Amino acid sequence: MGQLENIFSWSKSRNEQFHECRRKYYYDKYASWGGWDKRAPQEARLAYVLKNLKNRWAWKGETVHHTIEEVLKSLRRGQPVPFEVAAEQLTQTMRRDWKNSKAGQYREEPKKTTGLFEHEYSVPVDDATWKKIHDTSVEALKNFYGSSLYAELLKDDPLRWLVIEDLEDFDFEGSKIFVKLDFSREKDGFVEIYDWKTGKTNGDTTIQMGAYAIYAMQKWSKPLGRIRGFVFNLTKAGPVAEEEKLTDKLIEETKIFMRKSIGEMQALLSDVPKNVPKVREFFPFTDNPKYCDSCNFYRMCEKFSA
Ligand code: SF4
Repeated sequence: MGQLENIFSWSKSRNEQFHECRRKYYYDKYASWGGWDKRAPQEARLAYVLKNLKNRWAWKGETVHHTIEEVLKSLRRGQPVPFEVAAEQLTQTMRRDWKNSKAGQYREEPKKTTGLFEHEYSVPVDDATWKKIHDTSVEALKNFYGSSLYAELLKDDPLRWLVIEDLEDFDFEGSKIFVKLDFSREKDGFVEIYDWKTGKTNGDTTIQMGAYAIYAMQKWSKPLGRIRGFVFNLTKAGPVAEEEKLTDKLIEETKIFMRKSIGEMQALLSDVPKNVPKVREFFPFTDNPKYCDSCNFYRMCEKFSA
């Protein structure tokens, strides 16, 4: 196998990290490169272990998303999963993740096993709080099962389902843009895109939907008027899919946003085609202590260790 290349790509979450703290972005996208190899230089290995940590809310979101993904994939094979079975699987996954994380197994296998920020940094979290994370995850799953969308999917033709949590990419003016649609299907001549939400929305969802719509137009050769985007809030019982209006104006704004963000990121590269960063001093520390308190890279950050 040839050597892996660190190819420049853009996503909305990359943009958020870039704007929170340039140094954090540097650790995540460049210092960690190659750290999947246990024999990598110490800094790369540490950065790789830390970049894979997730806090309890992200863990909850990922676990619910993954459980719904499995439920839908099973349904696509013609095997609906009863709620009790899915809930039990979710509980077992969370139990296993928590135990492995507490034992520090993620330091050996950062990609394969879950590492929780709270364990790495010994954040005091009482049992009732961990229990609530679990209980609200089950609740979100229950809300999905109780939704009219799920009732409709039980009778739907899965041959019309387009995407279930696949990581996809598309080209935008020479840059690779990553998108991960939670669910997408064809219905009545429209492509429908769904975004599950399990907590507070992380910033503006419209740019994210704009990027999904651009992807859908390219991937399925559909005009914008034939694409619909929905945000599905699983924190509410009987959730309804709230439609995000996909307009030419939104597409134009999304393109302007991505172009500007990509330009800012690439201004910090010494070799743009090869995605080689300038020296780390070009990636300053944030002044906002809020970001440091929750930063995966706190342990290695020169702001605190220099
Ligand atoms: S600890 Fe603070 S300054 Fe250092 S990388 Fe993280 S957010 Fe940036």
